[in-house]
Amino acid sequence: MSEQTLSYQHTPIIDLQLPILQKTGIKLFIKREDQNHPRISGNKWWKLKYNLQAAQQQKHNTLLTFGGAYSNHIYATAAAAHELGLKSIGIIRGEETLPLNATLAFAKSRGMQLHYVSREAYRNKHSTEFIQSLHDRFGEFYLIPEGGTNTLAIKGVAEFAQRLQHEAAFDYVCLPVGTGGTIAGLIAGMNEQTQVVGISVLKNGEFLVDEVKNHLKTFSDRVYGNWHIETSYHHGGYAKTNPQLFEFIHNMNQQHQLPLDPVYTAKLMWGVMNMIEKEKFTPGSNVLMLHTGGLQGLQT
Ligand SMILES: *Cc1c(COP(=O)(O)O)cnc(C)c1O
Repeated sequence: MSEQTLSYQHTPIIDLQLPILQKTGIKLFIKREDQNHPRISGNKWWKLKYNLQAAQQQKHNTLLTFGGAYSNHIYATAAAAHELGLKSIGIIRGEETLPLNATLAFAKSRGMQLHYVSREAYRNKHSTEFIQSLHDRFGEFYLIPEGGTNTLAIKGVAEFAQRLQHEAAFDYVCLPVGTGGTIAGLIAGMNEQTQVVGISVLKNGEFLVDEVKNHLKTFSDRVYGNWHIETSYHHGGYAKTNPQLFEFIHNMNQQHQLPLDPVYTAKLMWGVMNMIEKEKFTPGSNVLMLHTGGLQGLQT
C-alpha cells in the first residue's frame, strides 16, 4: 500500500482594519489557516501530518486517540483516518450522551469507533496498564495522544512556521494555547526576530510554560527565548463562555466577516485586542494572529 497524504489548501493572510489600530500604529493580520482543509482544519492538519505518515510507514491500519466529547482533535482524526482509508478509535472522556453531539456524530459517520471511559479511568490515559488494556481490547493501533500533541505534531507545526515566515515578516505571531503542542511547533519553526505570544484558553494557564518547555525538549536541544504565554484571557476556563464573548464573536463576523469559535480563536482575538489597548506590542509593529480553526465546533 503506498503512502497517502491529506489534501491541503493554501490559506490567505488578511489585513484587519480596526479603529483601535490607528492610534497605536499596529498592523494586525490574521492567517486563515482554518481554511486549509474543510474537515481537518487549522493546527490539527499540521499536528496530524507526520503522525499519519508514521502510522502508514509502520503499516498500521488503525489510529487510536483520546478526547472530550467536543474535541476538535477527535473530529479531525476521524476525518483524516477516513480520508486515508485507515480505521479509527476514539477514547472519549465521560459517559455516552444521546443523541450524539455534532462532533461525535461526525466522527461516527467517518467510521470512528467511539469508546467511552469514566473520568477516573481517563486520567490514567498515559499509563502503560491502560494502554495495554486498550491493546487487549482493540488489537494493534497507532496511538496519538490527547489533543494530538507529540514530537511529530511539533515537527508538523514547525514546518508550517517555516513556510509562514517565507510569506511575510511579522514582529509577533499570536495563537491560542490548549495543550501547548501548537505553540511549541511555532516557537521551534519561527526565526528569532519573531515573538511568539500564546493566549491560554485554560484557567490557571501558568503551568503551560513548563509544558511547552517539555514539548520543546522532546523536539530539540535548543533553548528558545522568543515567546511567552498570556494567562488572563480564558474567560473562566476551558470552553467557558459569557454573553460578552458571544457578542464579540457576532461583531467580528458582522463587521469584519471574520468567523471565530468560542473555545479558542475568539479568546485569542479578544486577548490580542486587549494587548493592543494596553500597548503591550511595540508601536508600529506587525502582529499576526493564527486562526487555528475549530469552526466546525460552532454547530454543537
Ligand atoms: C486544538 C486547538 C487548539 C489548541 O492547540 P494545542 O496544540 O493543544 O495548544 C487551538 N485552536 C483550535 C481551534 C484547536 O482546535
